[in-house]
Amino acid sequence: MTKSVRSCAVYARISSDEGTALGVTRQIEDCTAEASRRGWPLGEIFTDNDVSATRTKKRPAYERMLDAIEHRTIDAVVVWDVDRLTRTPAELERFIGLADTHGLALASIGGEVDLATPQGRLTARIKGSVARHEVEQMSRRLKRKFQENAKAGKSHGVMPFGYRREPILDENGRRIGSRDAIVPAEAEVIRELYARAIAGDTLRYLAKYLNEQGFRTGQGNAFIGNVVGNMLRKPRYAGHRTHAGQIIGKGEWEPIISQDTYDQAMAVLTAPGRRHQRGIEPKHLLSGIALCGRCGGTMRPNMHKPLPDGTHRRSNYACSDCMKLTRKMEPVDEVVEAVMIARLSRPDVLAHLSEKPDDLAAAASSRDAILARMDTAADDYADGTITARQMARMNERLKASLAEAEAQVTKYQPVRILDGMTGENAAVAWGSTTINRKREIIRQLATVTILPSGPGIRFTPEQVKIEWKQA
Ligand SMILES: [Zn+2]
Repeated sequence: MTKSVRSCAVYARISSDEGTALGVTRQIEDCTAEASRRGWPLGEIFTDNDVSATRTKKRPAYERMLDAIEHRTIDAVVVWDVDRLTRTPAELERFIGLADTHGLALASIGGEVDLATPQGRLTARIKGSVARHEVEQMSRRLKRKFQENAKAGKSHGVMPFGYRREPILDENGRRIGSRDAIVPAEAEVIRELYARAIAGDTLRYLAKYLNEQGFRTGQGNAFIGNVVGNMLRKPRYAGHRTHAGQIIGKGEWEPIISQDTYDQAMAVLTAPGRRHQRGIEPKHLLSGIALCGRCGGTMRPNMHKPLPDGTHRRSNYACSDCMKLTRKMEPVDEVVEAVMIARLSRPDVLAHLSEKPDDLAAAASSRDAILARMDTAADDYADGTITARQMARMNERLKASLAEAEAQVTKYQPVRILDGMTGENAAVAWGSTTINRKREIIRQLATVTILPSGPGIRFTPEQVKIEWKQA
């Protein structure tokens, strides 16, 4: 390049080719130095932040530079390398055409590229095709990255309540990945939710609790029962990674709850006797639990006419089927509570709830074996040993076995609703627990029947029959 340059441009581009990406500052520094070394007067510096590095993405600075070349306000360009300048052979040919027409000089840090000579063009074309090859490599690398993420159990998708996504930075402060970190306050609440669910609180009640604590969903809405239910069913809280609704392996994030807690909560949430309570939260101990001694129907709070202040006073249980049995609530509740406390104080209370520990262990180990096979399949896929289709087929088969194994675990899982409720402290524990838990304990342990009595006969404790359920 012998002709004299009147004004040279520096073109710098940052691409998403992370790890080898050359900082724009470094490119500009080197190019400015090169221009100065050549004695080329520096004109404009053009910079594109071409993070997507796809062929379709516009490069506004590059386009402005081509304009400047056409208007001959610049007659030379310095780039760090030709791969910064053009991304496709078509772009390169267009640039070569412009260089021809306008007698443009081109220099790169790697050496001069004289587009006026066949050798220079060849060099540029080779570099150009190398750059294009790199774009293709990049999409391959992204695919590979996804596989590696799957293999490493990295999280993807929407952040669930309890976690936040944090960037992982290299020593230069550049983002090289992300990880899901526990948000302590939210994790605390999640543990509380599981504990309460195991204790028999309804989903609706849990949603109310969350809202009262000032928490909102990711979309900023108030929680409702179904949302809380879906949340608690997420295996990721116990450290499992799922894909398309199925567990595919272990997550790399820290679990918030143990597998044991998760299993217990699922056992409670899927228990056959569980009521899906709608409407107002029960305020009455035996509503819907106590049975009518006349017809076997269910006792419900009796609706009186509203009081002058608009509230209802419901102080009676009444049979909602035969409508012929009514009892004052308070004395019935007192009897049942006293009997429950006495029962919970006895050392043998847990004996009849004893599950089949051997069956539970067997079910749990077969579930773990299936999870391990899913892990292996994910590894094999990431390693390229099997195809995505093969992995999907294996997971499809394993998914069915997993559902079966999980059902077995749930079946033999002891429900821990009595944790902390028995023994010497039974009375204190009973007094401080929620009405939901009391109701669930009564439901699990006993059948309560309110017996009929003749007209004018005063209430006696014998009119409440309490039969213990056997395991
Ligand atoms: Zn009845």
